[in-house]
Amino acid sequence: HAKASGRRQAQYFNKDISATAKARFLLEGQLLAAIEQSALSVVYQPILAGDGRRIVGAEALVRWQHETLGFMSPAEFLPLAYDAGLMAALDQQVLEIVCRDIQHAMAKGLAMPPVAVNLSADSIMDPRLPDRIWALLQQYRVEGEQLELEVIEDVIKGDSQALRNTLEELVKMGIKLSIDDFGTGYSSLFRLKSLPFTKLKIDRSFTNDLPHDADDCAITLSILGLAKGLGLQVVAEGVESQAQESWLQHQGCDYLQGFKYSRPLSLAEFWQRMGPARGMAER
Ligand code: C2E
Ligand code: MG
Ligand code: MG
Ligand code: MG
Repeated sequence: HAKASGRRQAQYFNKDISATAKARFLLEGQLLAAIEQSALSVVYQPILAGDGRRIVGAEALVRWQHETLGFMSPAEFLPLAYDAGLMAALDQQVLEIVCRDIQHAMAKGLAMPPVAVNLSADSIMDPRLPDRIWALLQQYRVEGEQLELEVIEDVIKGDSQALRNTLEELVKMGIKLSIDDFGTGYSSLFRLKSLPFTKLKIDRSFTNDLPHDADDCAITLSILGLAKGLGLQVVAEGVESQAQESWLQHQGCDYLQGFKYSRPLSLAEFWQRMGPARGMAER
């Protein structure tokens, strides 16, 4: 009897799995098509100077408007893209959209601060990345200084000369490099020091409960101290409240990013927030 019910359960289980697998397979195909047809879009979240007033940068964040499921967030479709091996293609698509948008802004005389693009491990580990980025910069007449790249710290845990070469080539183009979600992964402090990163982004999970949570205060302070010692700048993510802002400012955090200032915006909304380029405004 036990055996029979076990078998029945296994059947239900299999049926479930195959339904899920089918849905995933379908969605993966649609995601691939979206990437191939340039149907993904990008929103821009302002990054502010430590004063919390001036927008000095933006982070590009990918979005997917699915035909029937509607607006999908990265949390919903990035795991799929990872599993399907589509992350490098997705990142390339985002890089191209961003370069096009920067070119567009310059052509219209609009202010566009440096834009930070998130890269997956697949992208950053690909030795062809610098050449691909160089080609985009040429195609869209964008300076390397107008781009920044964010990678999560797990990427730097393995020691590889290839990664080092890639990072150095990117830096030679004028591109700045940041470690994203700092504190949530594993990175050797030695490697952090020896690789050409210039910014650490403190993950939202540590800034969420500032300044009330003593552990979060301690972690954030230690990241700020470490960064200062290594000559790195710090961006605090997930700033939503006045209390968080005040505390971070008091500790000398270099950059602030979060819903307190702005949610991620469409390009048009972002430009509206920025106003015209300074040279134009003065005229
Ligand atoms: P991330 O790079 O750490 O980006 C910050 C995320 O936090 C964004 O979520 C942003 O909308 C959200 N956020 C910003 N400020 C606040 C705040 O004050 N409160 C709260 N609750 N959330 C805030 P999003 O856009 O859903 O992106 C999630 C993650 O997906 C990103 O985390 C990044 O790891 C990844 N991602 C997004 N776009 C790309 C991309 O083009 N390529 C790659 N490889 N990964 C991407
Ligand atoms: Mg990021
Ligand atoms: Mg982050
Ligand atoms: Mg994050």
